[in-house]
Amino acid sequence: MMYLTLVFGLILTVVYAINGSPLQLIRIVILTGAITYGLRQLILYSDYKPSAHIVLAIINMLVWTNIFLVANAISIVTVQYILLSSTISFYFLNGRWGIFYSLLSLFPVILYFSLNGINDSAAFISGQQASEPIFIAVMMFNFFQLIFINYHFLTGFYLALSQLEKARKDEEELNEQLREAISRAENSSKAKSDFLSTMSHELRTPLNSVIGMSYVLLADNPREDQAGNLKVLHFSAESLLALINDILDFNKLDYGKLEMEKIGFYPAELIGRIHSGLKYQADEKGLSFSLDLDDNLSYIPVIGDPTRLLQILFNLVGNAIKFTSKGEIGLSVQLIDSDPENVTLAFTVKDTGIGISAEQKETIFEPFTQASSNITRKFGGSGLGLAITKQLLDLHDSHIELKSEVGLGTTFKFEIKYKRAGTADVTVNSLMEANVLANEDITWLNILVAEDNAMNILLMKKLLASWDVKADFALNGLEAYEMAKEKFYDIILMDIHMPVMDGYESSKKIISFYEDKPESPYIIALTASVANDIYNKIKLAGLNDYVSKPFNPTELKSKLINLSRLISK
Ligand code: ADP
Repeated sequence: MMYLTLVFGLILTVVYAINGSPLQLIRIVILTGAITYGLRQLILYSDYKPSAHIVLAIINMLVWTNIFLVANAISIVTVQYILLSSTISFYFLNGRWGIFYSLLSLFPVILYFSLNGINDSAAFISGQQASEPIFIAVMMFNFFQLIFINYHFLTGFYLALSQLEKARKDEEELNEQLREAISRAENSSKAKSDFLSTMSHELRTPLNSVIGMSYVLLADNPREDQAGNLKVLHFSAESLLALINDILDFNKLDYGKLEMEKIGFYPAELIGRIHSGLKYQADEKGLSFSLDLDDNLSYIPVIGDPTRLLQILFNLVGNAIKFTSKGEIGLSVQLIDSDPENVTLAFTVKDTGIGISAEQKETIFEPFTQASSNITRKFGGSGLGLAITKQLLDLHDSHIELKSEVGLGTTFKFEIKYKRAGTADVTVNSLMEANVLANEDITWLNILVAEDNAMNILLMKKLLASWDVKADFALNGLEAYEMAKEKFYDIILMDIHMPVMDGYESSKKIISFYEDKPESPYIIALTASVANDIYNKIKLAGLNDYVSKPFNPTELKSKLINLSRLISK
């Protein structure tokens, strides 16, 4: 448009130079000069804004001189210039400049009317001007400019709109791709998690027999040389089970599937158990293991997950013993904050072991990492313990602090805030479990074992025989139901996965058979499943309790003792 104006200005300069008033000539020279300068700026700097200001200044100069010097009237060309001034300033600059230039070009019109009075003012085309060909040419050119500017503005406007629409579509498409990628990632992580659960389940079943049999053989007065070998077998099987449990836990934590229990327990009692449980390990290595337990804690029950606290402390104290060859291990638990609602406990596990270097501190909380590669050779372990500990503490809204010096020892610290519990919230079980090995008479119990796996049947026979307990065996759920109808059993140990009729179905039938009888058998599920909702499923089917396979024979015995007390009452 500016090129065209320049060409048009040059032609008019020639025309006015030959035949025109000096005023017209001066105006057209200024216009042509300014347009040339504006064009130069536009080409050199590619910034259209200064050029727009130059063009607008010229247009306003034309409006003022048109009204007051050239025509002494408001001609159609002046009106066109006012429209151009407004359009260019709004389209090329912005709202504020638009208002400024619009008012600037309108002002002389108002001034003209107020100076001359409305009646005396000559607005629009005078006959004389309309007859001049140059006037007509300028008028047509201005119309053309108005159309051109509007056309370009609108084309640009619609282009921007369509680009916006395209951007929106692109964004939608990208979002869709993102959603697909996320769901693919989720699926593959679920597949990994499912694979780990299934694999661990499959591993636990045969491990059950290995652990149980080594237990039975050890209890069967083996020769001294056999006892040594059996201990190695038993220890390895237990380590394998611990590793499988770690992998399972880590998998659940990683997948956000681990649910925390909320039950009442006495931290002091649990810590006492950990201390006595691990003390013999420390003794075996010639280490002293001290426990500093806040006296005020003794009778405070809290609501929380005792199993997870046990796991955290077992990991930390276990590591302390593992990585210390002389000196002492210390476990301290202090009550650092207490109000009627909550208590906060500070735990410290200290050792005088090999220590952890600064750069190793960065990585040991990562899964499957150990401080150095010869650690595995020397001390064993999978490198999962601290990763699990850290995640378990995350679930307690807590974090672990580590201070260590190579060669001097290591200190781990963390705090946990628990809700206080009432004494009634604490089940007796946890207190009673400590007395498991008490010489309680359970030989009078009548037990039915429903189990299809031959190895497990053999194991159960040996285990129960070693406790002098008589038992009958059913090979599937239906058989168990038939036998339970014929004879009353105090306790039924019910495998869940069995052919013909599974453990849930069989239990439901037995429970409904005994519904209107004065007493009914206690049913304990035996399951190698590690699914999270297994406990709910078992409760829902009406079973009384469960023992997960591979079970610790002492755990099973403790359940039997607890039940025998309950039944004999
Ligand atoms: P694991 O004990 O199975 O190797 P962890 O995750 O429990 O795995 O520990 C990771 C590593 O952190 C260990 O291999 C060891 O190098 C280091 N570590 C943990 N606790 C201690 C400690 N008390 N003293 C020295 N090193 C430790």
